[in-house]
Amino acid sequence: MRNIREAIRRTNPFQKDFTVDAQSILSDLGIASLVADGDLAVTSPITGEVIGRVKQNSTADVDAALGAARTAFATWRNVPAPRRGELVRLLGNRLREKKEALGRLVSLEAGKILQEGLGEVQEMIDICDFAVGLSRQLYGLTIASERPGHRMAETWHPFGVCTIISAFNFPVAVWSWNAALALVCGNAVVWKPSEKTPLTALAVDRIFRDVLDEFGSAPAGLASVIIGGREVGAALVADKRSDIVSATGSTEMGRKVGVAVAQRFGRSILELGGNNAGIVSHTANRDLALRGILFSAVGTAGQRCTSLRRLFVHDSIYDETVARLKELYAKVPVGNPLEQGVLMGPLIDVQAFARMQDALEQAKGEGGKVSGGERVTVKGHENGYYVRPALVEMPSQTEVVLKETFAPILYVMRYSDFDDAIAANNAAAHGLSSCTFTTDLREAERFLSASGSDCGIANVNIGPSGAEIGGAFGGEKETGGGRESGSDAWKAYMRRATNTINYSSELPLAQGIDFNLG
Ligand code: NAD
Repeated sequence: MRNIREAIRRTNPFQKDFTVDAQSILSDLGIASLVADGDLAVTSPITGEVIGRVKQNSTADVDAALGAARTAFATWRNVPAPRRGELVRLLGNRLREKKEALGRLVSLEAGKILQEGLGEVQEMIDICDFAVGLSRQLYGLTIASERPGHRMAETWHPFGVCTIISAFNFPVAVWSWNAALALVCGNAVVWKPSEKTPLTALAVDRIFRDVLDEFGSAPAGLASVIIGGREVGAALVADKRSDIVSATGSTEMGRKVGVAVAQRFGRSILELGGNNAGIVSHTANRDLALRGILFSAVGTAGQRCTSLRRLFVHDSIYDETVARLKELYAKVPVGNPLEQGVLMGPLIDVQAFARMQDALEQAKGEGGKVSGGERVTVKGHENGYYVRPALVEMPSQTEVVLKETFAPILYVMRYSDFDDAIAANNAAAHGLSSCTFTTDLREAERFLSASGSDCGIANVNIGPSGAEIGGAFGGEKETGGGRESGSDAWKAYMRRATNTINYSSELPLAQGIDFNLG
């Protein structure tokens, strides 16, 4: 134990308090011994220093995990759904106990402010509650048959193994959105978290092991974690025992995963990139709009799939809105996300920083006026990549505006006609989230109508990010088309069977077909 503490302290020479915190969090979550040595170095974006080393899994481990999951599925699918819900209820309870420690670890590993780290764990708890209720509501339909003495029904059954691939920016919530539903739906789960955030995954796995012990009768292999990068991810995706692949990450990743799963006629749930827009009408409540814009553009350092990246402001209020946004941007407290009062933590790594700087250069070349975006030195954390959020006034939606740069860059543009602004909203390749700030009922309804926003999420008087778990989450076009979380997203984790039952002694055929030997 002392060695680990010393190893961690050695790698974090800057802040004693911070390192003590890291060690106590890992111990509190019961994973300190897993983080002592291994071939995958884990860096905290807060310090830019290594905070642990974990062992990566091999493709042989993938094979074993999928084999065990398939065996577990054969048992689990026959456990009554409300009993399966009990397992998820216990998970929610345990997460309540571990919320503070796990939320801190999310901040430490992904660089989110503590409020957002805690919020992410709350989201896990919320989806557990949702799934427990769902475990008693996996309803099918009764369908009117056209034939006398016949009944038709639609029933829902467990599907198989659900393989979850997650991104660094929601290191634990994405697992829970999928796993809580998949488990009550009678599936086994295998999880490959981002190679940038394996510690939080190991912590969740440890929590879940305790829950399985408490539950007592879950089959071995029901849930497992595979640590590693693309290679093990690709092995999971290629394997036909991954009946469902739920993959969250970049569109680039989705293009490979989607094709690989489709080639073997597997089922995929793709949750990919977003290039989310907002339209600020001249009728908007300006204070509310500014607060909504700030949270969704700057929150999580612009590293949410739903972050606001493009803003269309009505011509008549453009100058005033941009001036006020610049004032707000200049005041955003950037720093150690574990410190109270800080609203924006670091970027995940140097590559993210480089991509941000490249995008800002490109924006300038395409006629943009950039304010902010420069690197910020945070005392004691000089190796972290902290930046000021960038506001970029653009003449139009140039090439750089239409690509997703995973960083706090907000491109601002003018509009004069609301329908043109909707068309601009829809011009992006992605189709995840969108919003309008307006008090004009006709504008609001147009935005939400069939010819309005083409995104999976369309909001009014609220930013595009920060979704509740009760709604189906996901988006269209290059966002991949998948839906997770609330509403009827559970159906993607089940096999639908249409049943026709003949309780007569005749055999009438559908469509009145006569098929008698004569
Ligand atoms: P990423 O695509 O680099 O990695 C995501 C995951 O995919 C990782 O676990 C990675 O190891 C794995 N992966 C990469 N290539 C793979 C392959 N060929 N086969 C199997 N697995 C593979 O994404 P990131 O940088 O971690 O996250 C940022 C991106 O994720 C952004 O584009 C963001 O918009 C998106 N995102 C989307 C959602 C959503 O719900 N739509 C949520 C969070 C993040």
